[in-house]
Amino acid sequence: MAHPDTWLTPLQAGLFCEPGGFFIDPVRAVERAVITHAHSDHARPGHAAVLATPPTLALMRARMGDGAGATQQALAWGERLRIGEVTLWLEPAGHVLGSAQVAIEYRASRVVVSGDYKRQPDASCDPFVPIPCDVFVTEATFALPVFRHPPAPGEIAKLLDSIRLFPERTHVVGCYSLGKTQRLITLLRQAGWDAPIYLHGALTPMCAVYESFGVALGALRPATVAAKQDLLGSIVLAPPSAIADRWARRLAEPVVCMASGWMRVRQRAKQSGVELPLVISDHADWDELNRTIDEVAAPEVWVTHGSEAALIHEVAKRGVRGRALRLIGYGEDEA
Ligand SMILES: [Zn+2]
Ligand SMILES: [Zn+2]
Repeated sequence: MAHPDTWLTPLQAGLFCEPGGFFIDPVRAVERAVITHAHSDHARPGHAAVLATPPTLALMRARMGDGAGATQQALAWGERLRIGEVTLWLEPAGHVLGSAQVAIEYRASRVVVSGDYKRQPDASCDPFVPIPCDVFVTEATFALPVFRHPPAPGEIAKLLDSIRLFPERTHVVGCYSLGKTQRLITLLRQAGWDAPIYLHGALTPMCAVYESFGVALGALRPATVAAKQDLLGSIVLAPPSAIADRWARRLAEPVVCMASGWMRVRQRAKQSGVELPLVISDHADWDELNRTIDEVAAPEVWVTHGSEAALIHEVAKRGVRGRALRLIGYGEDEA
């Protein structure tokens, strides 16, 4: 058996699997890249060969056109692939459409690289599948005990209550274009909101890819061409950068909302001028991280990015060896 620290190495460009000859989510252009999901900090342009799930490849093409890899190879869930001396397959990470964990086996040891993930239900993507392994490489975006994400339907209920209370105002919700937007829409539909949902133009292309993969989003309308009057009592979704600027001010008395795990920190909501914070995250919270580490039963956990110290300290209490990889270049899903 070859210990994974002899064949999976954090380099400047990212995590490199030497016997397979590929990087996972490299932060610079490389020969061969395996991409966990299409967020811009994980899926960078310019790789020669890209391996990912079909939705991730489609989302990458929609975002970066020709930059999405000179050659693209799609891999379905669970399909085993021999690359160099390793066997690799992908299982759902439950983060956004197409988001995958990468499982790699080499000389009788198995590593699972989580990418970004969450455990809360999400109708817009496939749910996380725990894979038992020898080393679990995890994110740690919200790895502090203060981060506990409440069930998302309760946060959606707050939004709908506010609309009932202020029918003459327009609710504008800041959300990332890939993942959060489509999850919010499916949550609103599940809560019975059948009205058209208005979108900032930046959110439209990702929604189209979701729909092409069978995720039903209902009636969507461009917010920019809609008359101010039509938007009263409506929900407008926009990228976080747009909710505080000129774009949002042209709406009728906007109620500024933001859907993010960071909204758990009141200070952060206040600073960004958010009136109605919605704690809706596409990352695992403290409990989900710990539960997942228990479920995959790995004796060793490597932490890619986030609050690694707290998580490593916590898992050590349960006899799990932690290692901080301190990979540079990952963070917020989209800057
Ligand atoms: Zn990330
Ligand atoms: Zn992500």
